[in-house]
Amino acid sequence: MDHDQTSPPGVSACVPVPVPVPVPVTDPAAGRRPELESLHALRRSTTSRLASLRAESADIVEAARGQNGDDEHDPDGATVAFERAQVLALTRDAQTLLAEVDAAIARVDRGTYGVCEACGERIPAARLDARPTARACVGCA
Ligand SMILES: [Zn+2]
Repeated sequence: MDHDQTSPPGVSACVPVPVPVPVPVTDPAAGRRPELESLHALRRSTTSRLASLRAESADIVEAARGQNGDDEHDPDGATVAFERAQVLALTRDAQTLLAEVDAAIARVDRGTYGVCEACGERIPAARLDARPTARACVGCA
């Protein structure tokens, strides 16, 4: 065994070659399927939207309670009712979307995500990008 550590001739070494260090993976979602990523992102944003809608709804109810519950002579009564109806409609939309997202995540688990439920063809990626919860291709939707 040759324990002489001098560099072989011709190699002006002593400069350690930087070994590429793999970037530590800090994202717990890494390695999962990308469609699952966007679905979970959509789920998070929808959940937080629902939370803020609930807070908004509570605020409206609270504000209405602060007034003199006499809607007939309260010029704000109609506005409060309108605002409440709007928030409720948005809440229903968000709840529907959340259910669709959960169903889509379940389809990823089953391996049927991105497959049209009507004709069995793959749903084009562009459509899934635009509507990650799509169950059918454009032709069947
Ligand atoms: Zn189809």
